[in-house]
Amino acid sequence: MAHHRATFAEINLKAFKHNLQNLRAITEPTTGLGPATGIMAVIKADAYGHGAIPCAKAAVDTGVEYLGAGIIEEGIELRENNITEPILILGSIFPDEVADLVRHNFATILCTPHLAQALAKEAEKQGKTVNVHIKVDTGMNRLGVLPENLLPLIKTINNLPTLKLEALSTHFSSADDKDVSITTQQIELFQKTLSELQKAGVTMPPLTHLANTSALFRFPESRSKMVRPGLILYGALPSPVLNSVVEKICQKKNLQNFQPVMQWKSKIILLKSVQKGQPLSYSRKYFTPRDSVIATLPIGYADGLHRNLSNNMEVLIRGKRVPQVGTICMDMILIDVTEVPDVQMGDEVVIFGKQGEEEITVEELAKRSNTIPYEILCNVGKRVPRVYR
Ligand SMILES: *Cc1c(COP(=O)(O)O)cnc(C)c1O
Repeated sequence: MAHHRATFAEINLKAFKHNLQNLRAITEPTTGLGPATGIMAVIKADAYGHGAIPCAKAAVDTGVEYLGAGIIEEGIELRENNITEPILILGSIFPDEVADLVRHNFATILCTPHLAQALAKEAEKQGKTVNVHIKVDTGMNRLGVLPENLLPLIKTINNLPTLKLEALSTHFSSADDKDVSITTQQIELFQKTLSELQKAGVTMPPLTHLANTSALFRFPESRSKMVRPGLILYGALPSPVLNSVVEKICQKKNLQNFQPVMQWKSKIILLKSVQKGQPLSYSRKYFTPRDSVIATLPIGYADGLHRNLSNNMEVLIRGKRVPQVGTICMDMILIDVTEVPDVQMGDEVVIFGKQGEEEITVEELAKRSNTIPYEILCNVGKRVPRVYR
């Protein structure tokens, strides 16, 4: 392995592929009769911090049907790295981005006739057809068109020969909520909207897609023709509500559990003895309760380690959990290694991941930081090299 910074994120692409294969096994129809469910691998935000290009290539290797990018720049990065698979721009685009969208053969989420017109005109100019996916707003009240405005939008699209309506979709606001009724209502509204369209004589597009990670596990009826998993590809779960559901499904299908893809590691850059009663780090928020051995690590909030984790997180060293102590700085943190025998400068430290028998999960760190695993992963900073294996 080439030399890299002592603080790095280790990305296990085998685990990523394993997770995708698990999903394939879970979403394939059990009867052998129903139509196959496609997978759109959501790799927005640099693949949730894991690196969009390596993850996209791994996803393509396992045969996903679609890739989901968040913004058009992310799609362009994929095309510039020779990824030719269908790509959907999940966050839609502005009218001044139509030229790039058409040039790179992206599909986009579309919610307005205005954008439809602009896209159609540009497609005509470039002599191409563009795939559009309408998002129906069934309760998220974010991106999407309300059910009552859907039919006119479809008519507009159908009257524009350079546009092809490839999919109808929706997005769930609360698929990881204990209360399942919110998602159930969204699914029902979506289905009702579809059947009304059919009654009005509208031909259905080839795809419908609804399910994110939480929904595809908890609401099998939402899997439809394609699912849009993000977080589970990276081996993390949106909320503890998912734990037992995912475990049960894996057991039933005889699958090895999903595996975390990223481990975050650093190294001790300095060890020192600090007497009892001494303040550590900025603002004197921590005093050594005894004569201590304190280690400095070259990782801080500039690397994405939230400052609100100060004095509220643990790390692994020599297979043992030890506490982080004192305020987290921009480039450094301190850990208390008084009880680690034979500790040495240069020892590897795990921020999240496995060491020996111990493990710190992204979920644990998210809980301590009062956020969700998504944010922990996305925030691993750009100066942290991703090391692939
Ligand atoms: C991010 C995103 C997803 C993936 O969500 P996960 O909870 O990570 O599975 C799916 N659909 C849309 C529209 C998204 O923006």
